[in-house]
Amino acid sequence: MRLPSLLQLRILKEAFKALFTGPYTSEFPFQPHVPAEKFRGKPEYDEKECVGCGACAEACPPQCIDMVDEERRKFTLHLDSCIFCGQCQANCITEKGITLTKEYDLALFDRSQAIEEVEKELLRCEFCNSVIGAVDHIKWLAKKLGPLAYSNPTLMLTSLRELTPPPEKIAPRSEGPISRSDHIRILCPRCRWEVVLTESQT
Ligand code: SF4
Ligand code: SF4
Repeated sequence: MRLPSLLQLRILKEAFKALFTGPYTSEFPFQPHVPAEKFRGKPEYDEKECVGCGACAEACPPQCIDMVDEERRKFTLHLDSCIFCGQCQANCITEKGITLTKEYDLALFDRSQAIEEVEKELLRCEFCNSVIGAVDHIKWLAKKLGPLAYSNPTLMLTSLRELTPPPEKIAPRSEGPISRSDHIRILCPRCRWEVVLTESQT
């Protein structure tokens, strides 16, 4: 007589166990389903922890996170294209800005509602008005650098922002050449480079 293989024995063991433990499947939607511990569900932004750096949008394999700079920096995550890979969470610089929750019931009649959004305040160059980044991101960088941030006036002034006039009261000064007096201002990398060049020539 041919003896059962190891695989057949394991199948028999599972079948015997199932007689006492009941079915593996759940009765969703009649009963709520409890996802597994490491289940990756709907990604959600945490507005307080997100600094608006854009790393999640860069890392997203199907590119389902749009980052648009207008009045503010706006992130729109399209849940209908999300593959729940977790790369946004894994690459988030604060490690808490976006988290994959256990939410799995994402069925909708209107696809335009399948979005997750967060908005951040933008920091603009006080000379040419171009976008430097999100205010919270620059502050986060300054905090990370510690005393080294004092070597860059943009980082220093942004982290001390509460002590300086609010941005809407500082008009961008794009007319006339940039000069040494612009050194202690919030500047984009291009204008900062021009100020340093001007300083080295005088
Ligand atoms: S889970 Fe993956 S696919 Fe979904 S938003 Fe994050 S990175 Fe993109
Ligand atoms: S802080 Fe995290 S969640 Fe916010 S934009 Fe950066 S990577 Fe995305």
